[in-house]
Amino acid sequence: MDTISIVVPCYNEQESLPIFMEEISRVAANMMSQHLVSFEIILVNDGSTDATLDAMKNAEAHQRTGFAVRWVSFSRNFGKEAAMLAGLERATGTYVATMDADMQDPPSLLPQMYEMLLTGDMDCVATRRTNREGEPPIRSVFARLFYKLINKISNADIVDGARDFRLMSRPMVDAVLSLPEYNRFSKGIFGWIGFKTVWIPYVNVNRVAGETKWNFFSLLLYSIDGIVAFSTVPLSIASVLGLALCAIAFIGVIFIVIRTLLIGDPVDGWPSLVCIITLLGGIQLLCLGIMGQYLAKTYLETKHRPPYIVKESSDNSTAGNSLN
Ligand code: UDP
Ligand code: MG
Repeated sequence: MDTISIVVPCYNEQESLPIFMEEISRVAANMMSQHLVSFEIILVNDGSTDATLDAMKNAEAHQRTGFAVRWVSFSRNFGKEAAMLAGLERATGTYVATMDADMQDPPSLLPQMYEMLLTGDMDCVATRRTNREGEPPIRSVFARLFYKLINKISNADIVDGARDFRLMSRPMVDAVLSLPEYNRFSKGIFGWIGFKTVWIPYVNVNRVAGETKWNFFSLLLYSIDGIVAFSTVPLSIASVLGLALCAIAFIGVIFIVIRTLLIGDPVDGWPSLVCIITLLGGIQLLCLGIMGQYLAKTYLETKHRPPYIVKESSDNSTAGNSLN
């Protein structure tokens, strides 16, 4: 018999979680009447400051034969990536889904995804939203730009509009867990490990309650994380830029020497000099910043810190668990 594990990262989802649990147990009951499957819901409380943990404990009331509810609670907010990792590590199912608690990943798509995995020869059915309605236009522009850029400069193969809602086979989950990195950018990891993925498009739905945890600035930092995690092209750009500027300076020096010899040295043009100095200073700082990004990530990786600390869980295994 197949078991489907459903990993749900939750950060301040006290209103959404009960609605999600109602819906998922309804969908699960339907699926159990049609297939020989059981379910395991793994709720991960990512250091919520509201009553999300209580909502998780209440969610245990939904448990019945073939429908288990487990939860883990972090000691503080470690971010969605860490929460998904904790859930994936604990999932025991033959198939594992990751989905948000805010109903933006409709549980009603699960039966279709499961049937596709049963009949096809693919390892993963993932979802992609076809529109970006309800999102500030400027964010959409930058999001598109980011997907174009990262696909050009890395081999992570990230689909524009890809959501984290996906159903994976056990071999694929094991592959995801075999990547030991601390800086996890799962959109890139899923693409990088390969495996056959089929995309199903759906129209974006707004969250049922609460607010999104992302703003423009946090998304910008997240995209820089993604690029640094999956590409070293920015480092090459920094070197090429440095080389090009050296060449320009060299030609400039020759030009000035020859001009001085021919027509003397008319002292003039300090504003242009200031502009050039500022520009060069800016480029130097940018390149230093790029290197700093990689250095910082390397520093964090070498510390081998666990990506999250568990404080409490339904299994009572309070040890600060992680990859190692
Ligand atoms: N989330 C999390 N930790 C965080 C931020 C978000 O576990 O630090 C969860 C959140 O509870 C939700 C999912 O990740 O279930 C997606 O978050 P959100 O809806 O804010 O993102 P969006 O859908 O706007 O991209
Ligand atoms: Mg959401």
